[in-house]
Amino acid sequence: MMVLTKKMIEIRNILSKVGQASTLNLPSIVVIGSQSSGKSSVLESIVGHEFLPKGTNMVTRRPIELTLINTPGSNAEYGEFPDLGLGKISDFSSIQRTLTELNLAVSDAECVSDDPIRLSISSPHVPDLSLIDLPGYIQVVGQNQPLELKQKISELCDKYIQPPNVILAISAADVDLANSTALRASRRVDPRGERTIGVVTKMDLVDPIRGMSILNDKQYPLRLGYVGVVSRVPTTTGLFKKGNANLTSAITKNENAYFSAHPLEFGPNSDVSVGTTTLRKKLMHVLEQTMSASLQSTSDAIQQELEEATYEFKVQYNDRPLSAESYLAESLDAFKHSFKQFATEFGRPQMHELLKNELDQRVLDLLAARYWNKPIYDLSVPVVEPDNLADLPKADPDSPYWHRRLDASTSSLTKLGVGRLATTVVASAIQSHVDKLVNQSTFVNHPFAQEAITGAASSILNDRFYSTSDQVENCIKPFKFEIDMEDREWAHGREHVQGVLKKELEACEGALRGLETNVGGRRKLKEVMSFVDKARKGDVIVEGESSTGAGGFSAALLTKGREAVFLRDRAEIIKMRMYAVKSKQCANMKNKYHCPEVFLDAVASKLASTAVLFLNVELLSEFYYNFPRELDQRLGRHLSEEDIEKFAKEDPKIRKHLEVIRRKELLELVLEKMQSLRQLEGREREDRNAP
Ligand code: GDP
Repeated sequence: MMVLTKKMIEIRNILSKVGQASTLNLPSIVVIGSQSSGKSSVLESIVGHEFLPKGTNMVTRRPIELTLINTPGSNAEYGEFPDLGLGKISDFSSIQRTLTELNLAVSDAECVSDDPIRLSISSPHVPDLSLIDLPGYIQVVGQNQPLELKQKISELCDKYIQPPNVILAISAADVDLANSTALRASRRVDPRGERTIGVVTKMDLVDPIRGMSILNDKQYPLRLGYVGVVSRVPTTTGLFKKGNANLTSAITKNENAYFSAHPLEFGPNSDVSVGTTTLRKKLMHVLEQTMSASLQSTSDAIQQELEEATYEFKVQYNDRPLSAESYLAESLDAFKHSFKQFATEFGRPQMHELLKNELDQRVLDLLAARYWNKPIYDLSVPVVEPDNLADLPKADPDSPYWHRRLDASTSSLTKLGVGRLATTVVASAIQSHVDKLVNQSTFVNHPFAQEAITGAASSILNDRFYSTSDQVENCIKPFKFEIDMEDREWAHGREHVQGVLKKELEACEGALRGLETNVGGRRKLKEVMSFVDKARKGDVIVEGESSTGAGGFSAALLTKGREAVFLRDRAEIIKMRMYAVKSKQCANMKNKYHCPEVFLDAVASKLASTAVLFLNVELLSEFYYNFPRELDQRLGRHLSEEDIEKFAKEDPKIRKHLEVIRRKELLELVLEKMQSLRQLEGREREDRNAP
């Protein structure tokens, strides 16, 4: 019943996916031997290919967990490294190169590593076996090798030769068996020789009679016996050509020739076992027996591990089912839901407010540049102003001079590139809202998804950017030539600009206070300011103060002083203008040249309203329609299973949750398989015992 080993190997592979926590151990055949004992040759004769790392100074530095999978009815022979994801490798020299690289990756300082390399080889010519190749014991530490190497290799081997593993102890016939490191090691852990198979290599190098007596060794008798082999690849006979061809038959031919040349010692009537074929059969049989013997204990262990996983799942996760896909789907749904909510809250009024705020700033800039700088004229009639402005020169706002000034300001405002500005303002608001939503969602722990979402948003916004900004620019075009204003709009502008001016005034005063603290108090600032004032009027002479300072003030202090003077003057002007805007005169649109602040504010509102109409159609509605679809594209069905898995595991809590579920599922699967195996085994036993 050779299915058992195959099934158990399958189970072992499933178990290896259960993860770090698993302590489950299925029996394997562990191969030990000194360097040059012929260990690699034996393994390669079983596999039928040269695939193990070679080289004079090359020590196997990591255990190789070798799974042989018999694939009857197929011609393909290939190896796979399940942890590397390299796929099927049918070129065995490439497997050899990979193994060499993996071994060399262990640093010299570390000497050897107990992190195993997993390799499976599928072929119609190999038996189902699970073998572990360990670093060869060394007798003498080489020149470039650390002293503790010998010790470390021996410790590593000791770890593996524990029950329930079967030990394959390799010794060379030309070395006294009593000196065999492999047998000595195995004797330590298996003193009664119950789970050790002795392999004596290089039988061709000793006299046949001596060979025979080695195999009959009574010093260390083994229940599973000794097998003599000649597993050197015959290079000179021409039987075997190097390459990818299977070398088992070449070796056995050579071997058979040797043993049959000495029928007395090794023939069917002698009581020794020889030959690679015999060895293979023995290995299969012994492994099968061992596996069968460990069925009960293994399934008990699995049962226990399953109970632990089930308990963890219940206590820590409340039996809440979860899969990477469902987690992604739920996260995406929740995100789309929050986006929908946002969409109901962000529409035309919100865009208008954003845009108007931006335009208010531009209006303030224009006012500052064209009206609020020296010399300042008083545009208001009748004159009722704060004391210190009483001496301002009077302006006649009805003169063409002031008309032109307002017209030019209006024109600057309408031509500042409203299309681009409006689109930028709204697009970046959307983008930052999306970022905010991401930060409030489960995606906050998922860099990959975050990138996908941000990417989705910006690709739609970028796609729409130019056409939207063109459209907006186009539709505000009429305002560049003529502005029709209604009383209602004027009144609203008058109301609104008072708030804008007030905020600006507060900003000036705030900055002034900031300067006070910065220079070390109000008095100090007053002193500098009065010096700057005098200097400006020409009352004091300031010479070359740029770098050295003047009037007892440092250059830096003077700069601050000038800044303060500017802020103070700006605040005074704004106060005066607030006063004017509030006055009766500005209540009437006819007096627009007296009230540029009101007029420009009303124009800005018209621009914003018109822009928003088009932004709504061209940008916002498009975005609201396309964004959820784009999210589906980037995070939905199109992701591969691995990507989804990778995504879900970015969150450590989800990762743990998923892992416990997976472990539970795998263990359930394994247990089910084990149970059916046991049934099968039981039935076979009955069959055997039946009369
Ligand atoms: P390892 O270091 O234990 O893996 O030993 P190898 O398999 O590399 O073998 C060491 C040397 O012994 C190589 O040169 C092999 O060709 C040679 N060798 C291995 N098995 C036999 C054998 O059965 N007969 C002979 N004559 N040489 C062998």
